[in-house]
Amino acid sequence: MITIQGKGVSTGVALGPLYFYQRAKSTVSRYTVTDTDAEWARFKAAQEKAIVELGELAEKARAEAGDEAAMLFETHAMMAEDLDYEETIQNAITENKLNAEAAVSDTAAQFAEMFASMDDAYFQARAADVKDVSGRILGILTGAVQGGVDSPVPVILAADDLAPSETVQLDKSKILGFITEGGSGSSHTAILARTMGIPAIIGVGGALKPEMAGHEVIIDGSNGNILVDADEAARTKMLQKMEEQKKMQALLDELKGKPNVTKDGQSVRIYCNIGSPDDVAAVLKNDAGGVGLFRSEFLYLNCDDYPDEEYQFEAYKKALSDMGGREVVIRTLDIGADKQIGYFNLPNEENPALGNRALRICLNRPEIFHTQIRALYRASAFGKLSIMFPMVTSVWEVREAKKMCERVKKELTAEGIPFDNDVEVGIMIETPAAAIISDRLAKEVDFFSCGTNDLTQYTLACDRQNNDLGRFFNPHHPAVLRLLKMVCDNAHKNGIWVGICGELGADLALTETFLSIGIDELSVSPRSVLPLRQKVRETDVRVVREKALADLMGDANTEI
Ligand code: PEP
Ligand code: MG
Repeated sequence: MITIQGKGVSTGVALGPLYFYQRAKSTVSRYTVTDTDAEWARFKAAQEKAIVELGELAEKARAEAGDEAAMLFETHAMMAEDLDYEETIQNAITENKLNAEAAVSDTAAQFAEMFASMDDAYFQARAADVKDVSGRILGILTGAVQGGVDSPVPVILAADDLAPSETVQLDKSKILGFITEGGSGSSHTAILARTMGIPAIIGVGGALKPEMAGHEVIIDGSNGNILVDADEAARTKMLQKMEEQKKMQALLDELKGKPNVTKDGQSVRIYCNIGSPDDVAAVLKNDAGGVGLFRSEFLYLNCDDYPDEEYQFEAYKKALSDMGGREVVIRTLDIGADKQIGYFNLPNEENPALGNRALRICLNRPEIFHTQIRALYRASAFGKLSIMFPMVTSVWEVREAKKMCERVKKELTAEGIPFDNDVEVGIMIETPAAAIISDRLAKEVDFFSCGTNDLTQYTLACDRQNNDLGRFFNPHHPAVLRLLKMVCDNAHKNGIWVGICGELGADLALTETFLSIGIDELSVSPRSVLPLRQKVRETDVRVVREKALADLMGDANTEI
């Protein structure tokens, strides 16, 4: 038996075979061929297979998301057999005697550059398409699995690290748990694991060896323990823990249908964070009151090209109608920093967390923002929608974003398309600037939702992605908590509600503090709803308030 210690970031015990994440090879071999006919035939076979795969993907997309979504894959299939593209590859093979991989790779680079240099935004976006199609053909030529899990049974997935775009594309039914070499607890991959209710452990370094692939591993996401080939005693102990968790869950299930009210009668709304309309099932199963944060960027991460209005409309409509009239707060696109998307063609930045991200991208590229806001307002006719803007630092940004809402409402009215005229518009408070001017911002919007992941990162000048900074990244720091209290007070003085949608909202060590400052809503992963309800129902704010507020202010006895 081998024992490995990592950091648990999503609770639960899981047992299954260890599987190493397969990433498509990024290096392309280059050599001279003598039999150019055979090499051309290799290319043609790979091209044909790619076209068949794309056809299948188009059908899947049509069934799940409609014709518009299918069109993307159909366009890719057409691109794979485009005559110019094919001819350039053929010349590289027959005249330059290049191997098929190098011929495809060079042609992709040449076509992508040509598209990227065009003036028209539509053609510029084709640069990502040609890279994507060529990547698929290259994957077939090199025999590399295109990222993901190629296993007939569910596995414990191990990876060096997983980008959010890789995580969203995984087949979740194949994954029992995650282990990563690096990563951090507040990275989006850890957040996704919690949302999906999958146990996850990060920061194991090089402890997992390739020869362990296929061996049975047991992981405990609550304490970061990993057992490879566990002996009988350890195995039995872990299985008992799994049983205990099931019993604990049964007890928590008894809280379903009960209100989130403290012993002294104070209520708080407990909502959920989701990344896709499919997560609504878990929201309802855990009896949450609504969705406090729908990270809409995961829709974009799941696509190979800008999702159009129709595709987004269907996704938002599904979430809203499945929630059956309960509130759904949808956050507008929040990409940049760790959430990078190839087809946005964003330039590399020295400091991406401080760069062109979230609302900044939307305000700089209004055509993208316009599409999303139209899809949102159209979907508002199917449930109770609220819209929220991320990464705000100034009042003017909020005003400009709200102008887009007004423009869209006018357009829809003129087009006779129904929408809800009372959609609430709010902002995330996740920068120190927004917290400090929250008195001004509160006059512009209907609600605040505090993003404590970024608020901690920016307040403490500490990268949320960097696991080596673990002990410096302290969301309990009085600097963060004082800001939260300031935001809460400013919201209430101005008659608007305030919630917390960062990971801190589920931290039971701070529930008394949040209740004491009067937070109105806590938005957490679906699995955290019932434990949080239990904590709220056990609390008497009259008893805990004084100490909770003193701790929050970081009095002289608190270690900072
Ligand atoms: C946050 O920053 O706390 C937040 C909720 O947004 P995200 O984690 O997606 O950046
Ligand atoms: Mg954030």
